[in-house]
Amino acid sequence: MPDDLQNLSIGECQRLLERREVSSLELTHAYLSAIERVEPGVQAFINLTHDLALEQARKADVRLATGEASPLTGVPMQVKDLLSTRGVPTTCGSRMLEGFVPPYDAAVVERLYEQDAVLLGKGNMDEFAMGSSTENSAFHPTYNPWDLDRVPGGSSGGGAAAVAAGECVYALGSDTGGSVRQPAAMCGVVGLKPTYGLVSRWGLVAYASSLDQVGPLTRDVSDCATVLNVLAGHDSRDSTSIPGERPDYQRGLTDGVRGLRVGMPREYFEEGVDPEVRRVVTEAVGVLEGLGALVEEVSLPSTTYALAAYYIIAPSECSANLARYDGVKYGLSVPEAGDGASAMEATRSAGFGAEVKRRIMLGTYALSAGYYDAFYLKALKVRTLLRRECEEAFRRFDVLVSPTSPTVAFPLGSRMADPVQMYQADVCTVPANIAGIPAISVPCGFSDGLPVGLQLMGPAMAEATLLRTGYAYEQATDWHTKRPPL
Ligand code: GLN
Repeated sequence: MPDDLQNLSIGECQRLLERREVSSLELTHAYLSAIERVEPGVQAFINLTHDLALEQARKADVRLATGEASPLTGVPMQVKDLLSTRGVPTTCGSRMLEGFVPPYDAAVVERLYEQDAVLLGKGNMDEFAMGSSTENSAFHPTYNPWDLDRVPGGSSGGGAAAVAAGECVYALGSDTGGSVRQPAAMCGVVGLKPTYGLVSRWGLVAYASSLDQVGPLTRDVSDCATVLNVLAGHDSRDSTSIPGERPDYQRGLTDGVRGLRVGMPREYFEEGVDPEVRRVVTEAVGVLEGLGALVEEVSLPSTTYALAAYYIIAPSECSANLARYDGVKYGLSVPEAGDGASAMEATRSAGFGAEVKRRIMLGTYALSAGYYDAFYLKALKVRTLLRRECEEAFRRFDVLVSPTSPTVAFPLGSRMADPVQMYQADVCTVPANIAGIPAISVPCGFSDGLPVGLQLMGPAMAEATLLRTGYAYEQATDWHTKRPPL
């Protein structure tokens, strides 16, 4: 049995499991002891599912013995704590849902379980996925495995940190404005936000429904394709799910980028982007060019307004979605003498953290009579403009490239007092959510010893192109093989 089981990719796990060089039970034990060792420093989990993992591993070993295993059979993973897991607490990083145990599995969890995946536990996150640093978790922050004084990004910081720290082989996150890609970039792993509607959100606790998507966090691009193959598919229980078959994302992965038309949108390389990040990303684009891609500059002027539009649209939708936490239906309930309204007020006051309250107030304000036209409607107009610009750009280009995050991971606490500075962390990622297009972040180097991510965006349903491009880049470099010294 190889001694470094913690840094295996899904592909490597699969080979070892199939050849019976290691069992899923051994693999799972190895990850559980890695968690025991690393977790006091990293704190990437809200809840561990130790017994369930061992039970699932035993089941996976039975399946492996039949010779009919899938690529994910017996491979240990983590799921963000806003995806429903039957019998396993699902908190969304909030006191509001403390003690809530869902009676069903999210569609994506069902899909993983059908492949005999092994759940190690639930990933830490910013409360209700609102944040860019995982510091808004009601339980504890997560620490960046590359530098424990820094944030792992957010809101799926638990997933990105766990993968980077070798606490699981892959993780599921959700991405409303960058929450899979930005932590992936800050922790040096791969993160994909699929096309809106590609992956079912049934059982994903809603934040902003016109933007939310579930996506994988993995060690490399090939693993990302493997997980996407399982996640993607039509689901009639999610009314926004795109009908029809999905391609095999492993096919064509090795086809290369010769002749690929790559656009570099100027707006993503301007002020606000750290000069070192810009240099590293520009060098990465040079690598694609060296592999035969045709790189050209392009302008997407509405990008400048994307962040402002996002911070109207997302809070507006969240103010409606979070109305369901009334102290009656789910989780926390603070009984209060008097009428139902005061009990609801007491529950919401005690259950929500400061950032969630800020978003609910911002959204309620933006949707209220008299302000609706000035804020919400205007944001929707920006959304239409941005979508059109993207459609236009994708007539000329197969892929658009940019930094994933304008800076590397920042020190814990450094942005908590300044929400606008925190929101700036999403400036490169929100446009893909607003336009509904897919985007992937791939490790592309370091600045000050901290990972930098290269973002690739494509037209709707072009995941295969993004994966092929990311894979070609990865084959030509070795950034994705670097592991933090823990
Ligand atoms: N940081 C962004 C926000 O706070 C994005 C979060 C996300 O994608 N869930 O809204």
